Amino acid sequence: MFDLKTIVRPNILGLKPYSSARDEFKGNEGVFLDANENPFGTLNRYPNSDQKTLKQKLSAYNGIVIKNIFIGNGSDEIIDLIYRIFCNPGKDKALTFTPTFGMYQVAADINAIELITLPLNDHFQIKKDDLKPYFKDEKLKLIFICSPNNPTGNCFKKSDIEFILENFNGIVIIDEAYADFNDNKSWSQSIETYPNLIVTQTFSKAWALAAARIGIAYANEEIIQLLNKVKMPYNISKLNETAAIEALENRTTFEANKQIILEEKKKLITALKKLEIIKKIYPSDANFLLVEVEDADKLYQNLVEQKVITRKRNSLVKNSIRITVGKPEENEKLINTLADLSLRT
Ligand SMILES: *Cc1c(COP(=O)(O)O)cnc(C)c1O
Repeated sequence: MFDLKTIVRPNILGLKPYSSARDEFKGNEGVFLDANENPFGTLNRYPNSDQKTLKQKLSAYNGIVIKNIFIGNGSDEIIDLIYRIFCNPGKDKALTFTPTFGMYQVAADINAIELITLPLNDHFQIKKDDLKPYFKDEKLKLIFICSPNNPTGNCFKKSDIEFILENFNGIVIIDEAYADFNDNKSWSQSIETYPNLIVTQTFSKAWALAAARIGIAYANEEIIQLLNKVKMPYNISKLNETAAIEALENRTTFEANKQIILEEKKKLITALKKLEIIKKIYPSDANFLLVEVEDADKLYQNLVEQKVITRKRNSLVKNSIRITVGKPEENEKLINTLADLSLRT
């Protein structure tokens, strides 16, 4: 049985959060002499600590109620907060499936948590049998599932994720940074069903706001309250919150650009398939392609020399590079450069 209280760190369970001036008086009108702010300027006041307006816009967009939404300074902050809430440093463990996003490991190392890494199978899917013995480990608090997975690009099977949610009595984090690029149903719609589920999304990819650092977590109310308790009081700047609100208000731009990216991805796949230099294109539910080549180090370097920057991923997947889908002219430059390089070899 999943019991939230038994897996939260005791010091966090008993933590009395900082109560800011903005928490104690919520009105908009009056003479504000409560927070030692400068009375002059346009960014002189502390922002609201609960990002209510942004949450209302998000809620109107996806139907998830505000009490189930948390806003972080990028998903990166949320990953770190989750470790800090549930994992006792030097004692507890987390688990993920590799190759995957590097921040789960970095955040584990910062918090002195052992991260168990289970290799995915040849189709980059979860090997359930490898996982089963770990369910019994009481020190195992978190399982990170990145779907669509970075750098492989694929989503994990729904039945495998359900199996984990139903059998693991710790917290399951599904990182959906790339969810907007495919039509699969978001796991955020399942937070009522699974009390141990946290789904993270971000404004950094499909919403084109990587510089604004806005990440989202969806979970049941108790988990959201824990995140609120542990976060810094003003973790989201007003400038960044405004940028996210404006993005949600300009959904035609979002949809139009997303369509271009998806069309470009199809074209890129067709063009890459014709090049001898590309040995394999892995299936992708995201805005990037993992490709296998003959010699990833060499190809990466040759591309850099032509001012085309891709991401070497051969330390994770043999002889692979990861290519983000760019603007039409950028993708054309990549394809032309690859074609030239093919001729040279
Ligand atoms: C890009 C990415 C993120 C985004 O992180 P932010 O801190 O929100 O920018 C999260 N998870 C994965 C797997 C990513 O690839």
